[in-house]
Amino acid sequence: MHEMTSTRATLTEQQRETLEALAGEIRVRRPVVAFTGAGISTESGIPDYRGPNGLWKRVRPTTFREFLNDPEVRAAYWRRRRERYPQMVQVEPNAGHLALVRLQEAGLLSTIITQNIDGLHQRAGADPESVIELHGTVHEIRCLECDRRFPAAEFPLPEGDEEPVCPVCGGIVKEATISFGESLVADDLRRALEIARDCELMLVVGSSLQVNPAAKVPLIAAQQGAVLAIINREPTPLDPLADFVVQASAGAALSYVADLLTG
Ligand code: NAD
Repeated sequence: MHEMTSTRATLTEQQRETLEALAGEIRVRRPVVAFTGAGISTESGIPDYRGPNGLWKRVRPTTFREFLNDPEVRAAYWRRRRERYPQMVQVEPNAGHLALVRLQEAGLLSTIITQNIDGLHQRAGADPESVIELHGTVHEIRCLECDRRFPAAEFPLPEGDEEPVCPVCGGIVKEATISFGESLVADDLRRALEIARDCELMLVVGSSLQVNPAAKVPLIAAQQGAVLAIINREPTPLDPLADFVVQASAGAALSYVADLLTG
């Protein structure tokens, strides 16, 4: 399942030149902001949605409405979580996550706005206060009635097919992730858009930029005059607006940039 951790050898000479120019811009426009998606975590072994091996083609995601309305859907949802969450906890951050931490520790990167729900930026050592998880996190359980949140480690699931409920109000609970058809946490989106408006350089890594409203974040940054850099294996709809586009592995490209700036 794991992809090989990428090395400098996987970058072409032209990609290295583009990344060297990008490193120069990061030095000038520090602290920059990162906007990450599922692609930064594929090298840790978590499949993305829309890449060539993406989950999108295999599993239809549960919508928020189905979850709310159908106890059978909820039972299947918790069965999947019982199976998959223990593996999710074991997943390790990769070279891409670690390179962003190196940039952050050097004062070159401030906020990491992520669509990922895997918590790997924080696991890699990113300052938790600096990470905005636009689509929530699998590492918390949220009550849909009273909105309380519980760390997953302190929320053991009942045995068998019994449905978990909020220990405080008895309401329906769910992973603290944003399902299809569910609104983002307004405050997270507001903060992300504010940061996008103010930043001088936004570094997009591993996102197809097809999921809205999240994809508005780099769009707004570019429209406000920020330098836009996109590191993604496939083309994205914002490539025409970007100052730097590198179609390469996130681990290799970010490690190269971090080596140039902090090595
Ligand atoms: P996406 O699946 O739509 O797109 C991922 C992009 O990353 C693709 O264009 C792919 O070509 C590229 N990519 C894959 N591996 C890469 C690598 N190693 N280096 C560089 N690029 C790589 O992902 P998205 O834009 O984040 O949107 C998907 C939605 O699914 C998000 O809302 C996210 O919450 C959710 N999701 C999250 C995870 C996770 O937390 N790790 C995993 C799957 C899906």
